[in-house]
This record gives sequence, C-alpha cells and structure tokens, in this order.
Amino acid sequence: MTTVAIIGGGFTGAAVAIHLAAAVPTRTTRIVVFEPRRRLGAGLAYDTEDPTHRINVPAARMSVVPGDDEHFVRWLASVGEPADDPQAFRPDGTVFPKRGLFGRYVAAQIAPLVSRGIVEYVREAVADVGRSDGRWVLTTASGAKLAADVVVNATTHPPPSPPAALRPLGGHPRFIADPNGAGALEGIGAADRVLLVGTGLTGADVIASLTARGHYGKILAVSRHGLVSRGHAPVPQEPFGDFLARPASTALSLLRTTRRTVREAAERGITWHAVFDALRGQGQDIWTALPVPERRRLVRHLRSYWDVHRFRIAPQVEDALEQRLADGSLEVRAASLKAAGIGEDGTLSVDLRRRGGREITQETADVVVVATGPAHGSILEAQPHLASLAAAGLVVLDEIGLGLSCDRSGRALDRSGQPVPTFLIAGPLARGTFGELMGLPQVSTYAAFIAAELASMARVPSMVTGTSTKRR
Ligand SMILES: Cc1cc2nc3c(=O)[nH]c(=O)nc-3n(C[C@H](O)[C@H](O)[C@H](O)COP(=O)(O)OP(=O)(O)OC[C@H]3O[C@@H](n4cnc5c(N)ncnc54)[C@H](O)[C@@H]3O)c2cc1C
Repeated sequence: MTTVAIIGGGFTGAAVAIHLAAAVPTRTTRIVVFEPRRRLGAGLAYDTEDPTHRINVPAARMSVVPGDDEHFVRWLASVGEPADDPQAFRPDGTVFPKRGLFGRYVAAQIAPLVSRGIVEYVREAVADVGRSDGRWVLTTASGAKLAADVVVNATTHPPPSPPAALRPLGGHPRFIADPNGAGALEGIGAADRVLLVGTGLTGADVIASLTARGHYGKILAVSRHGLVSRGHAPVPQEPFGDFLARPASTALSLLRTTRRTVREAAERGITWHAVFDALRGQGQDIWTALPVPERRRLVRHLRSYWDVHRFRIAPQVEDALEQRLADGSLEVRAASLKAAGIGEDGTLSVDLRRRGGREITQETADVVVVATGPAHGSILEAQPHLASLAAAGLVVLDEIGLGLSCDRSGRALDRSGQPVPTFLIAGPLARGTFGELMGLPQVSTYAAFIAAELASMARVPSMVTGTSTKRR
C-alpha cells in the first residue's frame, strides 16, 4: 500500500485528498492529511466566521469538482443556505455567500471519507520532514511520526510579514500585524483612527469588517500604488480576447495587447472585466510562453495593477468601501512607509512619503493594521519543515519568488533543478511554474491534476519506490 501524506488541509489539501480517494481503488492507498485547524477544507480563506467575509467569485464558479461549476450551488440548495442572508443575492442573479459557508461545503465533501477511514485527518501541524530508508518521515508538532512514500505540500498561505519600517511598533497592543488572527480587530474602538497598510483584498476585508462593527473613525489606507481592488462587472459577461494566437514574449507586449483588447472590448460595449477574465483563463499558457526574465519584469512592474483587476472584491464589500469613501471616513493614499514610532501618550505614528513626491509627512493613528496579505516569498522561513527540506537542497524558492520551484507535473525541483519524484507542490505555491494559480477555480483544477498524478504513481509502484527514476 502506498502512503500519501498531505501537509495542509485547507482547500487544496482537502481537494487533493477527495480526488485521490475517488481515483484509486479502496484500501490501495493510505491518504493522511495533516491540518491543525478544527476542520478540513477551509484553510486561511474560508475558516472565518466574520459575516462580512464573502467569497469574491460568484458561487456558481466556486466548485471542488472542476467541470461541475454548479456543485457548490447545489450543495447550498441542499442545506437551505444562504439562510437569513438576503445580501448574498445580487440583482443580476449571482450569489456571494459568506466565505465560512464555502469552508463548510468543502468540509462536508471530505467528512464522509474521514468517517469511513478512507482519508485520515491528523489534527496537527507537520514540524519536520526528512528521509530515512528511501521513505519520507514526517514529524508533527507533538513529535508523532509517519513514514510516507509520497508527500504533497499544500501549506499555501504563510502569515503576513510587516514592512520593515513598521518594526518599531512590533509588540505594541495596538499594532495588528495579522488581521486574520482570531479576534484581531476586536479591540478597535468605533472612533479609533486606523492606519491600514495595504489596499488589496485583505485591506478591503478589514474595512468591511470594521464598518459592520460600527466603526466610523478615520481610516487612512496606504499602499505603494494606492490601488484598490476593483468590483465585479455591472452585468455578467463572457471572457473577451485571445492572448494565445500570438502569445506575448515580453511583459511590455502583453501590456500592449491587453490595452488594445480592452479598447476593442469597449467598442463592443464590453467592460475590461471580460478581458481580465480571458487573461485569467489563458493565464497559465500566457505565463509559460514568457521567458523567466520577462515573468520577473511582469511581476515587478505590473503585478499591483494585475492584482486589483483580477482579484475583485465581493459587491457587498465594494458597497462598504464606497460608503466610507463617500462619507469621507476613508482615504486611500499612494505612499511608501519610511519610519514608525510610539509617542509618550501611546499614539502610533508612521512617516509616509507620497508616491512621486519627496516630502515626508507624519500620520498618527490609534491603531495600525497590516493588511499586506500572506508573505509567500517568506514561505521557507515560515515553515520549519520546508526550511529543513531547503537546507537539504530538496526544495527551493521559485525564480520569481512566488512560491516553491516545481516542474510541470507539480514535482518539487531540488537545488540542482532536478525533480524530486515523490514530493509534490500543490496549491498556489506552484504558481512560479504555472502562473495564474490563486483563484479558487484554478486552484481546484490544479488540485485534481495533482490527485491524478498521485493516482498514477500509486498504480505504478516503481514511480514511488524510485526504481524507474533517480532515487531520493
Ligand atoms: C483571505 C483570502 C480570501 C480568499 N478568497 C477567495 C475567494 O473568495 N475566491 C477565490 O476564488 N479565491 C479566494 N482566495 C484564494 C485562495 O488562496 C484559494 O482559493 C485557496 O483557498 C487556497 O487554499 P490552500 O489550501 O492552497 O491554502 P491555505 O488556505 O493557506 O491552506 C493551507 C492549510 O495548511 C495548513 N498548514 C499550514 N502549515 C501547516 C503545517 N506545517 N502542517 C500542517 N498543516 C499546515 C493551514 O492551517 C491551512 O489550513 C482567497 C485567499 C485568501 C488568503
């Protein structure tokens, strides 16, 4: 029997386990998922009870079964959800339920497999992974050990890493380094002046959450470009544009083609949303066609713009932002952080330099919240098991710094660029290789692909024992 150990049971780990269990004959493969959270399938994005945290893609496109887009919608209907949440339903017929509900949906798909013993759920974090006698040995935080033939790493989102300029605020009770921590926003008073660092999806979540709690104090939201995540199209549209007929070979030509396509779309009465949907759908092939230096250029110069157009906020969150902008209690500023300090009265201060300007101004606040999102570039430091694998040369950061290096089959690439046959990178940490791999639809498709890889390994034992490939 082949033992597959999956490290991380968020959406990715759960989806890999579900698809693998369906692909291999019962009792031929032992599937063990390590996940410290109270349930499988939710992960950082969907393990939330905050009612303002909503999925940012309509429910009809969030499915654990690629190709069956309505799977989540049918589950919602079967359990009578979203109940008591009229806001979830939009006038155009789309549904944006609370994120926690999506977590419940994924958990409900894997729960029967766990109760039948087809998937084992170890409610612990993995602290170390090593090699012994040709197998992997996983050690959990409590010291328990498991020997496995194949390991799948699905620990996508590390905690945020506060910008260096904010270091002097570290440890101060009114410096919130991770707004996703349990009860992180609870101590913020309704009138508190908040300095929010980050204007993307996490920042939008914080603003919506504070607003729902009755917060009316001034929020100054700062990011280098001052770009705020956009909302959805006024009406649903089909993706528009073909970026693969003549794939761009430079970041600049991709930008030009995108601008031209947006203009062509506008002439037909179609909004930019449809063009970005096409870019997202074709994203993996667009990315693959770009040479590595051009991928780097794309990330360095265009990522901020891509992120705010591609990752859209739920309409309910957009409403909250618009309300705060309209009543003047929210200001969004493009600026860089220069320094920070704590006054004698406990007030926090941050020195800012406006984008394109020279002058440095000091802003004071009652609370500083870091909303820069998960620090994927620090994944090796954030995960001790990855740090020890990196020290052994078995995993490396990808060339762009988006996650872990892997080949097109999802196998980790070692220090010398060779695939490690039995260590797979699942989830968005593989996006250095695959490009667009963060939104749920793409993550779901990739999880099914990884499960298919695992199933073929389980069917061909030599792929697992390494007799047909370089042994590790
Ligand atoms: C706040 C947020 C909201 C999002 N909302 C949407 C959305 O609405 N729509 C959309 O399409 N996409 C959304 N996304 C994108 C999201 O990244 C993917 O949809 C998906 O959730 C990624 O899941 P994952 O399992 O790969 O990662 P994660 O959610 O990070 O799960 C990894 C899991 O691994 C566990 N873990 C970590 N370390 C260890 C360890 N050492 N041992 C064992 N377990 C460990 C963690 O506890 C966690 O549960 C959102 C992302 C974020 C961060």
